[in-house]
Amino acid sequence: MIGEIISVGTEIILGNTLNTNTHYISKKLSSMGINVQYHTAVIDNPNLLEDVINISMKRADLIVFTGGLGPTYDDMTKEIVAKALGIELVLNNSVKEEIENYFKKMSKPMTSNNIKQAYIPKGSHLLKNEIGTAPGLYIEHQGKILILLPGPPEEMKLMFNKYVIPLIKQDNIIKIKTINTIGIGESALESMLKDIINDSNNPNIATYAKDGKVDIKVIAKGKSEEKVNKLLQNTIQKIDSKISKYIYSYEDKSIEEVIYNKLLEKNMKIAFCESITGGLIVSRFTKVPGVSQVLDRGIVTYSNRSKIEELGVKEETLNKYGAVSEQVALEMALGLLNKTGVDITLSTTGIAGPSGGNCKKPVGLVYIGIATSDDTFAIKSIFNGNRTAIQNRTAIRAFDELRK
Ligand code: ATP
Ligand code: MG
Repeated sequence: MIGEIISVGTEIILGNTLNTNTHYISKKLSSMGINVQYHTAVIDNPNLLEDVINISMKRADLIVFTGGLGPTYDDMTKEIVAKALGIELVLNNSVKEEIENYFKKMSKPMTSNNIKQAYIPKGSHLLKNEIGTAPGLYIEHQGKILILLPGPPEEMKLMFNKYVIPLIKQDNIIKIKTINTIGIGESALESMLKDIINDSNNPNIATYAKDGKVDIKVIAKGKSEEKVNKLLQNTIQKIDSKISKYIYSYEDKSIEEVIYNKLLEKNMKIAFCESITGGLIVSRFTKVPGVSQVLDRGIVTYSNRSKIEELGVKEETLNKYGAVSEQVALEMALGLLNKTGVDITLSTTGIAGPSGGNCKKPVGLVYIGIATSDDTFAIKSIFNGNRTAIQNRTAIRAFDELRK
């Protein structure tokens, strides 16, 4: 739905009033999924205002006006909107009565121009103004929605929140579902989903790479909750059929949280021994509230000596294969498992660069070891990037393995 906001008032064009209404309305509409594409401001001039309305009716589906709804003759928004749309103005008795009562209560004489406010375009709906005299209007015409609100910001805001938001929401339900993936790059993911993405306008599907992972946002719009849910469900099913092995959450969760929940469910305790990642993995893992229920410890065993002393890695293994090796990763993980008696341990060892020291192995070479009472294995990876990128990628790879 394309939106346009039209501010009516010479004082805005002259720079005497800052157009805060447009800013406010635009932000709100955008957050509700309305595609606001135009901001227009126009002086209090009937011909120019009519031109603006005619242009807007061609390019927007939702037009929100502010200003020019008051009783004076330079307030003309309602009259010109009616003229541009070819709708006649009719006297609305309840508004007439309200205005009469208002003046009685204030003990002020009512002038004829006040009666002008009681005329509204035929078929339009009144939006009550509880803190001012000028009511707002809601008009549906040729499949478009026009909303007229008064200029004073306090009145406009109150009415916008009370009437406009529910009206738009009811007509335009938007739901966003975020699917979290890991272990696949954004372009590879996009090409796997190419057909689904190209075929689908609603829901709209977009991918966002973030912290070595990729989120898929599925945005569905529709007239009813049921319809929107169905659209989402269908699309998620299609996505699932293509890439389910990379999906770790359908609820926009962090990978750490997913691992925590999994361990908690299985009543398992974990411990980490990190070399290349220097505590990064355990530090990230401790961001999850409640993690003490599943986390035993994390130790940084950076030097060969610490690997021997803390984890019982054999000196001959280190000499024979080097610290960055599958054998050392396995001995680290197993050593920690024996030492702590937890259910699962994870080790990291690798070359973060920029140089590999005396080592002949390539920068970015990483081994991750995993040990449980049933199974012990190591994963070899070669990561690109600088030191920080290699460490981060190692952490993500480790998390990817743990969630499986
Ligand atoms: P009233 O019944 O008060 O005359 P109105 O709908 O006719 O209401 P205007 O006369 O256009 O509104 O504006 C009233 C006041 O509201 C202006 O003096 C200005 O201070 C404020 N106002 C109008 N438009 C805007 C805007 N776009 N942004 C911020 N303030 C505005
Ligand atoms: Mg006015």
